[in-house]
Amino acid sequence: MSADDTHVFHLDTRCIHAGESLDERGGLHVPLYNHSTFGFESTEELLDVVDGRSDGNLYTRFGLNPTIRAVEEKLADLEDAAAAYAFSSGMAAISATLMAHCQAGDHVVCVGDVYGGTYELMETNLSQLDIETTFLLGDQVDALDEHLTDRTRVVFFETPTNPNMEIFDISSIAEITATHDALTVVDNTFASPINQNPLAHGADLVIHSTTKYLGGHSDLTGGAVMGSDDLLEPIALWRKNLGQMVAPEVAFLLARSLRTLGVRVRRQTRSAQQIAEFLDDHPRIRTVNYPGLPHFPGHEIAKRQMRGFGGMVSFIYDGDAESTAAMVDQLDLYTIAPSLGGVESLVTQPITTTHHDMDPAERARRGIADSMVRLSTGLEAPEDLIADLDQALS
Ligand code: PLP
Repeated sequence: MSADDTHVFHLDTRCIHAGESLDERGGLHVPLYNHSTFGFESTEELLDVVDGRSDGNLYTRFGLNPTIRAVEEKLADLEDAAAAYAFSSGMAAISATLMAHCQAGDHVVCVGDVYGGTYELMETNLSQLDIETTFLLGDQVDALDEHLTDRTRVVFFETPTNPNMEIFDISSIAEITATHDALTVVDNTFASPINQNPLAHGADLVIHSTTKYLGGHSDLTGGAVMGSDDLLEPIALWRKNLGQMVAPEVAFLLARSLRTLGVRVRRQTRSAQQIAEFLDDHPRIRTVNYPGLPHFPGHEIAKRQMRGFGGMVSFIYDGDAESTAAMVDQLDLYTIAPSLGGVESLVTQPITTTHHDMDPAERARRGIADSMVRLSTGLEAPEDLIADLDQALS
């Protein structure tokens, strides 16, 4: 979306206007078409849509619904992608992407720590389909080349990662992956398109759990994949036949939320920086994981590829699982909940939620300590959040 050849609109402007048009009755946004199917005046008109000769609406599970198309146009614009497909959840987006681009006998490399559900999908479900995953720890990324084989189809990673906040250099991973004819797929959920656009750094596909920052109000569940038309086409077929389509009501709600994405995420990012600096100086905290801290290992790479360091912070408390839970229970403003990215601040101990089902030995190997705490920074005043942390820690 651009005003003319020389002026490209700011992301904040695109959040509001991309994919939107005045409705025929003057409504400011594309309305909610919650219909499951669309009618035609003639068989000829229907066949024009079925055969792809015209761009009409047909059946919601196929994505041929104006409300879903509008939000997809906005999503594509925010990641500077040719196209986007919306899904019923982040896991639907991840599973369709991997199943579309891998077949029995193929190989996936997963770099660094990832959301527990993604790990389980690769470890348990994909292996049932004879798709094998090699899990590399973050510090093994320099040896990525050695782990890619002629069967490797996808290199998958998050940056920042959940929950260690590790940062990976998207362009150097994409460069190595491309030499093996595999795809670089980045889960950009933690950064959001406001803070990072992986396609601009060489990734082939970007995935979001729109449940998080993009939805932003902890009231919807959805996912999205963005990229080129040829890479998205097979993914759309899996979405259609696995029935992973986002509901029109959710697409409408997501479009509403995306209009404020820029202001929300920038404020959350500023607050998270202040919170990370407060925690970094606190005697009861062993380590703070936040890419905006100058001594954080990924800080320099994050400065190169991110516009902001995001609203997520994790830390290791000076205690065991029980005393950490007791400290978390003392928090008032932070709600104990497994999600992130909403206007309300959330706290979770990853061993109790996101990484609860991971084998404890595997968790330990990944540095996910029993006393790790993950904070999702909301839109409350940062001084109130810091005061709450201060009282709980003491
Ligand atoms: N990716 C990341 C980084 C996540 O944190 C999550 C969920 O917490 C997902 C994907 C899965 O998203 P959903 O719960 O929308 O399926």
